[in-house]
Amino acid sequence: MCAWGETEKVQIGDRQIPVDRCLAPLVQALNAGGVPTAMSCCGHGEGVGFVLLADGRLLSILPQEAFKAGGFQAMAERFDCRRQAGEVAG
Ligand SMILES: [Zn+2]
Repeated sequence: MCAWGETEKVQIGDRQIPVDRCLAPLVQALNAGGVPTAMSCCGHGEGVGFVLLADGRLLSILPQEAFKAGGFQAMAERFDCRRQAGEVAG
């Protein structure tokens, strides 16, 4: 996670939008891939980050430490995923 104010400009449509540096590649890829975003924040190491998609869906950005601590199984349990952790894709 980057510090507050560490931004990188991302081309979204015809505009250059400042995005948290650590999320810039993800936001760029989503927009380039036809998944337009509305806003985002990485949480700056103090909370859960997010990417709000233009259609209203919200992608949570968890600290890497949360994944490292428990892996796929812990993530599946945290989000009450009914599939086995081994079946979680993407
Ligand atoms: Zn960041």
